[in-house]
Amino acid sequence: MNNAYFDFKEPKNEPVKSYAPGSPERKALQEALAEMKSQQVDIPMYIDGQEVRSGNKKEIRPPHETGHLLGHFHASDEEHVCDAIDAALAARESWANMNWEHRAAIFMKAAELLATKYRYKMNAATMLGQSKNAFQAEIDSACELVDFFRFNVYFLSQIYKQQPISPEGFNNRMEYRPLEGFVLAVTPFNFTAIGGNLPACMAMCGNVVVWKPANTQVYSAKVIMDILIEAGLPAGVINLVYPSGPVVGEICFSHPYFAGVHFTGSTGVFQTMWKSIGANIDRFKSYPRIVGETGGKDFVFAHPSSNVDAVVTALARGAFEYQGQKCSAASRAYLPSNISQEILDKLVAEVGTMKMGPVDDFTNFVNAVIDEKSFNNIAGYLDNVKNGNGDAKILCGGNYDSSKGWYIEPTVILTTDPSYVTMCEELFGPVLTIYVYEADNWKEELEIVDSTSPYALTGAIFSQDRYAIEYMTKKLVNCAGNFYINDKPSGAVVGQQPFGGARASGTNDKAGSILNLYRWLSARTIKETHVPVTNYRYPFHQPD
Ligand code: NAD
Repeated sequence: MNNAYFDFKEPKNEPVKSYAPGSPERKALQEALAEMKSQQVDIPMYIDGQEVRSGNKKEIRPPHETGHLLGHFHASDEEHVCDAIDAALAARESWANMNWEHRAAIFMKAAELLATKYRYKMNAATMLGQSKNAFQAEIDSACELVDFFRFNVYFLSQIYKQQPISPEGFNNRMEYRPLEGFVLAVTPFNFTAIGGNLPACMAMCGNVVVWKPANTQVYSAKVIMDILIEAGLPAGVINLVYPSGPVVGEICFSHPYFAGVHFTGSTGVFQTMWKSIGANIDRFKSYPRIVGETGGKDFVFAHPSSNVDAVVTALARGAFEYQGQKCSAASRAYLPSNISQEILDKLVAEVGTMKMGPVDDFTNFVNAVIDEKSFNNIAGYLDNVKNGNGDAKILCGGNYDSSKGWYIEPTVILTTDPSYVTMCEELFGPVLTIYVYEADNWKEELEIVDSTSPYALTGAIFSQDRYAIEYMTKKLVNCAGNFYINDKPSGAVVGQQPFGGARASGTNDKAGSILNLYRWLSARTIKETHVPVTNYRYPFHQPD
């Protein structure tokens, strides 16, 4: 019996631990890393609460130490995707009817487990499987995912409270139903927190989910699943499978009960998905919700009045943290001629101090890029510059080495062509391209910032002139869904900077905010009349 209204308070962001030498968290993380490296895991799919093994095993190796085997996962085929859909649909009625406070309790418990018991295991899995350093893992797989769980419980409570007005004699109310069918989460390699949030926030709303992570994130996805199961997530609510992208699309996007997709990944994949869904639109029981957060070509624009050291730091951190593999990473910068040389000199000196290597050596700032495909792709762009194809030169970095792992040096390219290929295309690696403009022309330069790339994810401006800040903020209104003033364009925090971009960067549904949750709900309005009228006649059509 549910006989009271339950309140979920606004949470605080999970504090970020420092991992400084001598700290207890550093020791705990080092132990977790050593333990995980000493074992080989055998990761199953999770369908209807059961561990399922296909026997088609795929190796998992750290990107920074490809000679080491962490274990295997069992790849899925068509049959497993169909089983996952069936399991989700079978779980739907019980899950959708569970009272909110019980659904919420599962995710609040998951947050607690992750913040405590599983924190180091989760961070170690992200470090080893996705090649993140300790700090990058902490802000992603521990803090951000904890925040996603806790804040979404709070946001959903706020939504459930929103009710229409009821004039005397009537009671109007709004129910926030889950979507009718199953929903699909397709998640990227670069943030464990996104892997956890995309399926979890839809499930929180009462939906049943098929979750397909990137193959390169399966190692940490398994830890997320362990946490959710221990937190009490019932069988069939989130089903974790590892098919190829085209297989999952082919089956899900033609199923009559396909109700929506929550995607984060590259723009090309999202556009392919949207086309398939569109082509099958007459097959579905309802119009599927399509949410996708996709690529970026994120900019830093320094006004002639910028603080030099602030720009240098924003570029160093913004472009090279997690090897530039953040959708929000600074990858093109526009520097004014009056201070450009000072910025370039200082930046090159800073980048020269960045140590590169495996994640278990905590002094390394830069680790490896995710896989061979990405390594070859980025190396190709660097070769192009070295071969003199275009008006660009390498200021620092530019080397790569795959003998031990997928290592690409943090690289700064200087170009005299604002349309040079690395100013326009998303490389998704530790490569920053810089264009120097004539300081007096800063206003005209904003047109170039606006029109250079199809994306509009993040962007940063630097200035100490308030009129200029106001002008740039207005002029660049459609260039970025997350816009930063005197700060780097990466590092959004749940509850503080709701995240997402427009144009080719996605549907801008702001993961981890109240806006996103509305997409996974289908409201039913109920009007109840206490004393119904019993005569169809209105006064106006009575004779005078
Ligand atoms: P990706 O597009 O290669 O893969 C994303 C997911 O889609 C993976 O699970 C992959 O297996 C799956 N997939 C691939 N082809 C598919 C297909 N044809 N049908 C269905 N699924 C398919 O992206 P990635 O390399 O994992 O991640 C990097 C990309 O993600 C970058 O473009 C980055 O900008 C973007 N990203 C965006 C955000 C954001 O919030 N905007 C956040 C993180 C990453």
